[in-house]
Amino acid sequence: MIAQNGPIPLDRYMALCLGHPVHGYYRTRDPLGASGDFTTAPEISQIFGELIGLWAAEVWHAMGRPAPCRLVELGPGRGTLMADALRAVSTALPAFAEAIDLHLVETSPVLRRAQAARLDAAGVPATWHEAAGTVPDGPALILANEFFDALPVRQFERTAQGWCERRVGLAPDGARLVLGLDPDPTPGLPATAGTGAILTLPSVALSEMRRLAGRLARGGGALLCVDYGEVQLGLTDTLQAVRGHRFADPLAAPGEADLTAQVDFGALARAAVEAGARLHGPVTQAEFLGALGLAQRAERLAARARPDQAGAVTEAAARLVDSSRTGMGRLFKVLGVSGPDLTHLPALPSSTLSA
Ligand code: SAH
Repeated sequence: MIAQNGPIPLDRYMALCLGHPVHGYYRTRDPLGASGDFTTAPEISQIFGELIGLWAAEVWHAMGRPAPCRLVELGPGRGTLMADALRAVSTALPAFAEAIDLHLVETSPVLRRAQAARLDAAGVPATWHEAAGTVPDGPALILANEFFDALPVRQFERTAQGWCERRVGLAPDGARLVLGLDPDPTPGLPATAGTGAILTLPSVALSEMRRLAGRLARGGGALLCVDYGEVQLGLTDTLQAVRGHRFADPLAAPGEADLTAQVDFGALARAAVEAGARLHGPVTQAEFLGALGLAQRAERLAARARPDQAGAVTEAAARLVDSSRTGMGRLFKVLGVSGPDLTHLPALPSSTLSA
């Protein structure tokens, strides 16, 4: 395509690499786990999904126990988080379990099959969607773990002429892909910066957030966004490719590596407020799971585990809240977005962000 029609913007490249109907990364494989390319929190410990299920049950109670209540997951992976959440909910608050109308937003046929198998085993019927826009109206609880980081981003480089959009083109020898710049600067980008700075614009994530926040403002409910990222992203390149649990060159093997970009929590928060919703947090994943009682749950689970497995249970839980410089507990943030009438969400303080 590039050889015939010329360079394409980065967001188009990312969308094709991840979502092309035949060659797209997520269309062709289950990328999760030890044999895949990366591991996520629900795959590390069942406690992650259980605590999020209990979080949702508490929010449902605060919403006035609507029935039905849409429980929506964006990018549910193997269905592990949802299966763990539903199991926890069915013993803790059966009335919530009965009110749930489950909707899964997933583009990958491979992962849809994995989700169906997990949820069939749990006996819970679900409806699948290509995009969140077709989930029926009404009060909703929306969960998104490592979803927003997979949405295509645009990038701009600061040149003497202004912000020029990054494009993916072919090297002169035609043998490999290279990054280049649109020669014409893009107007209307506010930040000024030194030459060479990279501005990342999460265009798809922002429009998704605007739609979801607008829905919550009108129909009630809350969205929980858990992802790696920062409240204030620097003007550096945060696009990353991961293949076989190692960082890779994003251009080297299109469709064969996972492409993500750090989530810009500040920008998502502003989009949510503009759409009429209320913010909660963000806090680090360690703070969020700690406040929901991760340590106590891990202790109980380890005490009930076979002696040779107790250590692994404790270790997995610790990994979720590891607050070292490269640890998940610190790199991952949790942002809550709700309709205006929910003044408090569990484990998330009132927002520290002034939008
Ligand atoms: N939440 C899961 C999986 C994270 S990987 C977990 O924590 O384990 C990203 C997920 O989002 C995958 O399920 C992927 O197929 C899905 N996904 C990626 N892009 C998407 C899009 N544009 N629309 C819907 N789902 C998408």
